[in-house]
Amino acid sequence: GKPVCECNMCYGGSDCSQLLPDCMVDADSGNPTFLEPFWVKNAASSAIMIAGWHRLSYEFNDGSLISEELKTHIRKVHESVGNAITDGKYIVFGAGATHLLNAAVHALSTSNNGSSSPTKVVASIPYYPVYKEQTEIFNSEDYKFNGDTSMWKNDNSNSTFIELVTSPNNPDGQTKKAVLQGQFVKTIQDLAYYWPHYTPIPAPADEDLMIFTLSKVTGHAGSRFGWAIIKDEAVYKRMLNYVDLTTFGVSKDTQLRVLKLLKVVLSGNGRAMYEFGYNTMKNRWNRLSKALSQSERFSIQKLKPQYCSFSQQIRTPSPAFAWLKCERSILKDRSCYEVLKEVNITGRAGRLFGAGKRYVRLSLVSNEDHFDLLLRQINKVVSMEIDDK
Ligand code: PMP
Repeated sequence: GKPVCECNMCYGGSDCSQLLPDCMVDADSGNPTFLEPFWVKNAASSAIMIAGWHRLSYEFNDGSLISEELKTHIRKVHESVGNAITDGKYIVFGAGATHLLNAAVHALSTSNNGSSSPTKVVASIPYYPVYKEQTEIFNSEDYKFNGDTSMWKNDNSNSTFIELVTSPNNPDGQTKKAVLQGQFVKTIQDLAYYWPHYTPIPAPADEDLMIFTLSKVTGHAGSRFGWAIIKDEAVYKRMLNYVDLTTFGVSKDTQLRVLKLLKVVLSGNGRAMYEFGYNTMKNRWNRLSKALSQSERFSIQKLKPQYCSFSQQIRTPSPAFAWLKCERSILKDRSCYEVLKEVNITGRAGRLFGAGKRYVRLSLVSNEDHFDLLLRQINKVVSMEIDDK
């Protein structure tokens, strides 16, 4: 009969159970569904139910837009992982890190030294494309995107800068530190991936402005929840004002859901989700590295092992993305993105990250079936290369 629903591109047959020999594998999206099995296992304890008459008002009972209980739980999560110091700092919620990135750029740019030229927003190549795209769409008179940090290292014009630092970095998983220094430089630390799933945690981050997101820690990207941890009260107030005026706070339904999820994360010895996340990502990285170790055409980033205080062992990073490089010999006027597309893998082009055409980003965070399809395709490509020799 007629199929009831459309099959994933790699499956066919009346019930979509048949694996097709050739299909386009989507390794573009950073959708973090790899954590699904953990939440299936904790289905009952992580569930919420909200009656129709419940939670109609804008504010919580204490008149605020931010759940104090959720804030307390976020502080506990950071303390238990040891990835950020929250003591004496302020916390603001946003609709994902996406919302807070602009709140932070706004907050830091309006506090510039009174100069008339716009604050320069910069990031180190390869950088998360949203930094540029978002800064450009808002087209503010207060700030402009000014490209790669390295171009401004020796700048002595006393311009004001906002440097976006992503550590570990999206796309390449490297640990990053701010490049620019001086009294006119402010930094935003995007620590979306600073969790044991992806990287060793050597010490808690203690920066002026740090941004985290639920998307990459529990995997609930669709709940749209992020938080910023802020040292300076004036910056905190400007970010709060931005959130109030753009969305009037984060959905109370979302805040309730996040609280429930974080209670599960903190339950027991508080390590189960991270162990699951780390083991899953480590296994994928090992399998991918092994598959590509035999290739002379494609390579992935090298990542240094480091001591992880959370696990009390030396760990190699297990990144969310592979930053794949094509050797010149196979490019022949094409980009690495196009080369992969020809072998049925859709990645994200290096160009979008400010990098050259030799690079492409492959997402490793979707569910296991999806990763298996990617690996199957990679293995096929490498065996074709070996046959060519
Ligand atoms: N920063 C980085 C470095 C990211 O990779 C992402 C998600 N891809 C975000 C921010 C945005 O996350 P959110 O889902 O919280 O908006």
